[in-house]
Amino acid sequence: MNSEIAATATAPGDVVRYRCTACGNLTRFNVVTTRRTSAFHHFSVGGDLTVEEEQVLDETVEEVTCRWCGNGNGVEVLGSGAADPA
Ligand SMILES: [Zn+2]
Repeated sequence: MNSEIAATATAPGDVVRYRCTACGNLTRFNVVTTRRTSAFHHFSVGGDLTVEEEQVLDETVEEVTCRWCGNGNGVEVLGSGAADPA
């Protein structure tokens, strides 16, 4: 079984979860992400664009803000393998 692995930065299904330690929020965050992608832009003869085979080459989460607190002061990353400076 051949698998195409172009990038190791983001594995599908590798979901990062967050927690706001200030208010206990686990479900509502504003996340600012920089994402570099590669995609096949498939144009029809009429000029309509269909984007196909989009791959995330690189992804960086720049800022996570709690929707309830309005800031990211208490937000920490949950999940396996994540550094958790408790
Ligand atoms: Zn909060």
